[in-house]
Amino acid sequence: MKVLICGGGISGLIGGIVMARNPNISVEIYEAAPEFLPIGAGIGIWIRVWDLLAKLGLSDDLRSKTASATTPDPIDALIFRKSDQPEGVEFYTLVTNGPFITFHRHDFQQTLIQHLPSSCKMHHSKRLSTYTSLPNGKIRAYFEDGTQVTCDLLIGADGIRSTVRDTMLREKAAKHADVGNFEDAYQTLVANQPLWSGTMCYRGLIPMEKVKADIEKGNLTLEECHIQHMGKNANLIVYPIANGSMINFAAFYHQPDKVGSVFEGPWVQNVPKEELQAAYAGWEPSVQKWMKFIENPSRWAIHTIRPLDTYVADGVALIGDAAHAMVPHQGSGAGQGIEDAYFIATLLSNPAVTVRDIPKVLAVYDAVRRPFALDVCRRSHLNGSYYTMNNPDFKYRLAETQAGTPEQEKILKELGVAIKNNWEWAWTVPFDDNMEAGLVMLKRMMNNVGEQSAVVQDNGFVSAVL
Ligand SMILES: Cc1cc2nc3c(=O)[nH]c(=O)nc-3n(C[C@H](O)[C@H](O)[C@H](O)COP(=O)(O)OP(=O)(O)OC[C@H]3O[C@@H](n4cnc5c(N)ncnc54)[C@H](O)[C@@H]3O)c2cc1C
Repeated sequence: MKVLICGGGISGLIGGIVMARNPNISVEIYEAAPEFLPIGAGIGIWIRVWDLLAKLGLSDDLRSKTASATTPDPIDALIFRKSDQPEGVEFYTLVTNGPFITFHRHDFQQTLIQHLPSSCKMHHSKRLSTYTSLPNGKIRAYFEDGTQVTCDLLIGADGIRSTVRDTMLREKAAKHADVGNFEDAYQTLVANQPLWSGTMCYRGLIPMEKVKADIEKGNLTLEECHIQHMGKNANLIVYPIANGSMINFAAFYHQPDKVGSVFEGPWVQNVPKEELQAAYAGWEPSVQKWMKFIENPSRWAIHTIRPLDTYVADGVALIGDAAHAMVPHQGSGAGQGIEDAYFIATLLSNPAVTVRDIPKVLAVYDAVRRPFALDVCRRSHLNGSYYTMNNPDFKYRLAETQAGTPEQEKILKELGVAIKNNWEWAWTVPFDDNMEAGLVMLKRMMNNVGEQSAVVQDNGFVSAVL
């Protein structure tokens, strides 16, 4: 079986690592960038994703790149503070099983590259321009440099502006239009357009050296690296990366009236520090303290992909951000891409699966992973509404109370519990249950037991409906 992975980001690399271990699969990665530069900010993963990386034998190398613990013991992972006032209030401690394990993104990606088996070649400077389905069921990929490659399965791991998704959805829209179904054709094309979430993220890296003097003087403590500062329309989080040698700074600013509008200008841009400071004017001193370390914040307009009604087409599958780019408020976008890649690669590794069974594998992938990933997208949006005090369950009640009163304290505590309930799937539900549902479904499909579907329960567990 010949598999072509388009995109060598985190999702594509995991696909390469797992598939290349299967002697029946020949897999190659085609990546648009000429090389991966040591730029970027922090990234974190939860224990369910860590367990999966450990299964792949990556844990020792990854552990050497992080100062985070990697065991599932209960830990005070984050302290929530209401910070949009002169004196902030701490209102909740989020206890998780294992911490949010944090890395410099480049260290993380390089570790994956080092674990890519030599049989999985990564081709750089190869930008996919489109693909076509051939009459024999194979897929032909066309690159901007004029070259072509034919494969049995094309995996679109090419991020939020995915060319694979673009081609897939244009083909689907054309099929709808051919039978006069113009509304569905239109909706299919609309779904292809990334949507601005109305949120900006101001990002920067602070060398630990720079904060040392403040720590020594007692102006700052490392515990402050584990605070989620929240307030009206904004939230800020900092955490250590690169083995504790740097601090990742991410300050969000949300404009509710801009949700779903078109963002004019580049999605990522360096901006004057004053813009960041204006978003946090009047916030408590412990927030202002972090601002002083940021010289040139980069401003990211956070975009998402609307829920798609499928992640697959004949011989093609979308994984990671190409399928479900989400707001980053659960620290789970890359984690979901890793799970997608691992899931598909594991199904393909079933010794009974041949090229002929690719449609079954893709049907199972779509049935199990799509509802799950969409649920994580929904939960990420919900966390964002909680962090920025925009959630209607809390917004109006909070507005009616005074800072520091027992009434406000009570509502804030409820807010903390709501965030925990919305997020705890990430450290309580193992990925294995997704995988098992998929393997059971595939086995039954291979035995022609008919159509299958999956259900994501309220607590995040997935079960196959047989
Ligand atoms: C502010 C912020 C913070 C985040 N924090 C976290 C976090 O803590 N934890 C977490 O799990 N997630 C986090 N995320 C989400 C995470 O960054 C993404 O979900 C993840 O990087 C997606 O990986 P991917 O491999 O699917 O896509 P990408 O990383 O976008 O990789 C796509 C690759 O495809 C290549 N490519 C694109 N087009 C083509 C083409 N036509 N042909 C060939 N190659 C192509 C690109 O060059 C790129 O290398 C965060 C996101 C943001 C914005």
